[in-house]
Amino acid sequence: MTPLVDVYVALGSNLDEPIAQVRRALDELDRLPLSRRIAASRLYASRPVGPQDQPDFINAVAHLRTRLSPLALLDQLQALEQRHRRIRLRHWGPRTLDLDLLLYGDEFLTLPRLQVPHREMATRAFVLLPLLELAPGLRLPDGRRIAALAEALAAPGEVEVLPDDAS
Ligand code: ATP
Ligand code: CA
Ligand code: CA
Repeated sequence: MTPLVDVYVALGSNLDEPIAQVRRALDELDRLPLSRRIAASRLYASRPVGPQDQPDFINAVAHLRTRLSPLALLDQLQALEQRHRRIRLRHWGPRTLDLDLLLYGDEFLTLPRLQVPHREMATRAFVLLPLLELAPGLRLPDGRRIAALAEALAAPGEVEVLPDDAS
């Protein structure tokens, strides 16, 4: 059987009650086949990447343990995005749910559909800050520490933690 692998998934939403979208997706990630959710970060709010004429994003990161292969996991994440009726009008435009696979164990993958580690994760505050909360000692497969990458961010203040009872 495939061994259990630690994976980290980034969640983002800025349409149709994004806080509820992200909370629901965290529950759904707990129910993926052959997988278990180990931990979830708090929710964070961030300014959008790309076009600024759209609502702020709600972000979080989840830590799962899975026996799914990388592409089987990506299929599950994309099916979940579809269940949230993700509409995508333009690149980096608003969406109801975006699920990015950040890390799959210590693997480096460069497939047409899947690059792991996620290619932008080392420079995005809305990814690094929730990931740091979940796994302060974590390193990327190339050895770089998440904590050091978070310290090096140009604009960490553009991401805020939401209160637990935010809605
Ligand atoms: P970004 O990747 O810069 O955050 P995005 O999330 O808006 O942009 P999408 O439109 O959601 O990009 O994804 C485009 C494609 O990226 C997907 O169809 C998927 O096959 C591919 N992809 C490559 N690597 C990954 C990954 N690590 N996680 C999720 N999708 C990935
Ligand atoms: Ca993304
Ligand atoms: Ca994506």
